[in-house]
Amino acid sequence: MNIPQSSFPRVVIVGGGFGGIALAKKLSKKDAQVVLLDKHNYHNFQPLLYQVSTGGLEPDSIAYPIRKVLQGYPNFFFRLAQVLEVKTDTKRIKTNIGEIFYDYLVIATGSETNFFGNKGIESKGMAMKTIPQSLNLRSLILENFEQALLTDDLHERDALMNFVIVGGGPTGVELAGALAEIKKGILPKDYPDLDTRRAQINLVQSGDRILPAMSSKASEKAEKFLEELGVNVWKNIRVVDYDGKRVTTNTNTIFDAETLVWAAGVKAVGLKGLDSEELLARGNRLKVDEYHQVMGVDHVFAIGDVAQMESEDFPHGHPMMAQPAIQQGRNLGDNLVKLIDGKPMRPFVYKDKGSMATVGRNKAVVDMPKFRFQGVFAWFVWMFVHLYFLIGFRNRVVVFINWVYNYIRFDREARLIIRPFKKQNRVKKDTLMQD
Ligand SMILES: Cc1cc2nc3c(=O)[nH]c(=O)nc-3n(C[C@H](O)[C@H](O)[C@H](O)COP(=O)(O)OP(=O)(O)OC[C@H]3O[C@@H](n4cnc5c(N)ncnc54)[C@H](O)[C@@H]3O)c2cc1C
Repeated sequence: MNIPQSSFPRVVIVGGGFGGIALAKKLSKKDAQVVLLDKHNYHNFQPLLYQVSTGGLEPDSIAYPIRKVLQGYPNFFFRLAQVLEVKTDTKRIKTNIGEIFYDYLVIATGSETNFFGNKGIESKGMAMKTIPQSLNLRSLILENFEQALLTDDLHERDALMNFVIVGGGPTGVELAGALAEIKKGILPKDYPDLDTRRAQINLVQSGDRILPAMSSKASEKAEKFLEELGVNVWKNIRVVDYDGKRVTTNTNTIFDAETLVWAAGVKAVGLKGLDSEELLARGNRLKVDEYHQVMGVDHVFAIGDVAQMESEDFPHGHPMMAQPAIQQGRNLGDNLVKLIDGKPMRPFVYKDKGSMATVGRNKAVVDMPKFRFQGVFAWFVWMFVHLYFLIGFRNRVVVFINWVYNYIRFDREARLIIRPFKKQNRVKKDTLMQD
């Protein structure tokens, strides 16, 4: 990998997400050689992916080059590499660009969509965990409306304008709200020759309330906001299969829809060599102790979505959210310095700063440890927090300007089919999708 030998111990971090970046920033001015490996050369700000999918933002305003984040740090090395295996016996990791030795290894590979083994949904449904997936979804949504214009078959037209979003967590709620706003504000102007009032946005939640990780007040209010926007909220229904055209559920309810978005689960991204049963907790997460060390594996640590640190307050580990990943990355940074200096490490204590979700313009719900609020003020808080945590000054300015523009103009101008999406069951007849 062309990384020079150093007199400092080498810390290899796998993953430049929220946790990996926070850790690298903490370590890079210390007496350690930091090697960050990621299969992408950018950090992906996942909380705003749904805005890319719905044409509200361009993808480059939520992605940021990893090299730029850590520019100028003397002992820092980045390599664009997919990590394939960890060999703990020799302290080496295997990647698609070669092998590398570590003194300390930190796994920060995050999570991926969990289809729970359902092949139909996995192959025909859409996920929204990466930027390419969000762009696929953006293309599919727009292609559906172009296609709907061309067909005389009313049933087919309805199915093309029928969206099923599975999972009533923040991702599902935010996407449903954004689609409803497009239906109301943009489609009638873009497609005056199509009866876009027939478009249906369905949010399907298996439990008895949406946003189950938030307060009941936040759930109720978010549901009310969605209903005001015209979203059909289906509760206590579990989607069981999808053949690309029909969504079946565990009840008599079925949906004929050309688009199903699966936002109903994630699992940790595992690595060969750290995948034995005794190392893993629910959702494929690596069991770690209060110092982030993978249980029973010396010199290997894990942070963020991939790590499960069980405590009295969090018996199933911390929520798979940005804040735990950032806080864990910072704490591990301090601890590795202590470890290298032979000092005792500090156990991790998570400071819960709350959670929030937005439904649409002027509509958001915020649960903070001491305050809970909903509506316009919550929406401004949501925007401020997201701008604050977005990496890169340019991105903050671009996102802010886009939001102001979209707010004033009721518009989302990034509704572009730059890279047509070839959905499997439509490839043959779809002339639009030919390159
Ligand atoms: C649509 C969506 C909306 C979200 N909204 C919110 C929100 O509003 N608030 C919130 O707090 N959280 C939200 N989250 C969750 C939040 O984004 C994650 O909890 C957070 O990103 C976890 O950080 P991490 O550092 O563990 O992993 P990630 O940020 O996912 O980073 C993992 C990194 O590892 C890299 N990687 C993975 N495998 C390999 C490999 N084998 N080799 C090399 N590199 C690898 C990836 O490329 C990636 O860069 C959302 C997530 C999604 C998908």
